Amino acid sequence: MSCDIGLYGLAVMGQNFALNMASHGFKVCVCNRSPAKIETTVARAKAEGDLPLIGSDGPEDFCSKLSKPRKIVILVQAGKPVDSTIATLSQFLESGDVIIDGGNEWYPNTIRRYEELQPKGIQFIGMGISGGEEGARNGPSLMPGGPKTAYDLIEPIIKKCAAQVGDEACTGYCGPIGAGNYVKMVHNGIEYGDMQLISEVYDVLKNIVGMGNDEIGDLFEEWNKGELNSYLIEITAQIFKKKDELTGEGHVLDYIMDKTGMKGTGRWTVQEAAEQSVAAPTIAAALDTRYISGRKDERLAAEAILEGPTDKPVVDKAQIVKDLQAALYCSKIVSYAQGLGIIKAASDKMEWNVDLALCARMWRGGCIIRAGLLKGIQEAVARNNELANLMVDPGFAADLNSRHMAWRRIVSLGIASGVALPSMSASLNYYDQYRRGSLPASLVQAQRDFFGGHTYQRVDREGTFHTLWGDAH
Ligand code: NAP
Repeated sequence: MSCDIGLYGLAVMGQNFALNMASHGFKVCVCNRSPAKIETTVARAKAEGDLPLIGSDGPEDFCSKLSKPRKIVILVQAGKPVDSTIATLSQFLESGDVIIDGGNEWYPNTIRRYEELQPKGIQFIGMGISGGEEGARNGPSLMPGGPKTAYDLIEPIIKKCAAQVGDEACTGYCGPIGAGNYVKMVHNGIEYGDMQLISEVYDVLKNIVGMGNDEIGDLFEEWNKGELNSYLIEITAQIFKKKDELTGEGHVLDYIMDKTGMKGTGRWTVQEAAEQSVAAPTIAAALDTRYISGRKDERLAAEAILEGPTDKPVVDKAQIVKDLQAALYCSKIVSYAQGLGIIKAASDKMEWNVDLALCARMWRGGCIIRAGLLKGIQEAVARNNELANLMVDPGFAADLNSRHMAWRRIVSLGIASGVALPSMSASLNYYDQYRRGSLPASLVQAQRDFFGGHTYQRVDREGTFHTLWGDAH
């Protein structure tokens, strides 16, 4: 049979995304460097309802089985494997064919590959995919960027295979080459922030309030029914309740080493925030916390040397739980504001014209950061695409204004108790800086002018000024 689309790279993501496309009626041909995974995927397609999916005998056979212009999604390990896969496949492709890289890729690599394929006329799309294994199989969030003509060729397929929220697909045209990877990168940065914020809430509930795992799990289940409704709150509720099967005693969470791994997309987001001169302290604090978590041995040694507060705070459990819910909600708004700010700055600089409302829409289903809050974010940026910051949207401003005292009580409690709340306090500091028309930045500028003659502007008149500050300089 002549297939509608090919999928090369059949590990967790590739295998499930191939089955997803086949279960929507598209004829799929699959290939992988090691042939065993081709057989497994074909067997799964058969077992899951005789889906229209066939295998191939290597790259040449694979390409020959695709209808023209060929459309091939590659889902191999990011980095060099993508280059070698493109080199292999492009021998058997022709002008007009489209390669779609679905990996978590650093966007300049995607732009480079697009340019390298240009002389052959092969089109290239970088498409961020979120949702992990389950999303890939049942409906991920798909964030493609590349030539619009190439996007138009794959749109009918990806619109059907993406997660659906109401009558909207969690995908759409992000912009030119690189834009899709960029949006996915920031999605992952926001994911870092969300996960960190949730773990800070856990720290307060466990170590200040004294709640146990099951009780915290119940609370998260309750929160998931309200304004905090999200995939991460939902799965975290389940994590709190999961018993340890290995020992048969207690919860598995209590046996997990407090070291967080990472693959790089959070670091890229923070690097890019700096590159675009956009403050993203919530996400940066989440990244820093992962670094500190990795230094377990040092922390164990420091525990015996460095002191924290000894006084136990007076705890009003009901009040803290209520305040935490508000503080988490506020911090999340701030975190999304920062993420969208990074995308907006890059989009303006690179003339990508990324639609921020589309970003919010794509993130509403299928992906890890999907959350009820994103509906309001989609509406806010759709109402005003030039919104300077999500926090000043009238709806979100009202939410922040009515909750900020609860947020302050939680951050104060954490500081007084010696429980670090890096992302939550960074979020509050961001809010408190952004909402002030006047900052002590005047003093920093004076210092710069003092030692470096960097000049300054004045608040009372136009022009550039320099002061002879003292005898020392
Ligand atoms: P992976 O573990 O990142 O990669 C394994 C796949 O890459 C296998 O098919 C492997 O082939 C192939 N591969 C490795 N080196 C190769 C080379 N030199 N030439 C050709 N093929 C090579 O797989 P994954 O977890 O399914 O992820 C695929 C992509 O999706 C990655 O970019 C990942 O970052 C992204 N992603 C993953 C997730 C997730 O939850 N896992 C979520 C979103 C996005 P062999 O079978 O022959 O070894």
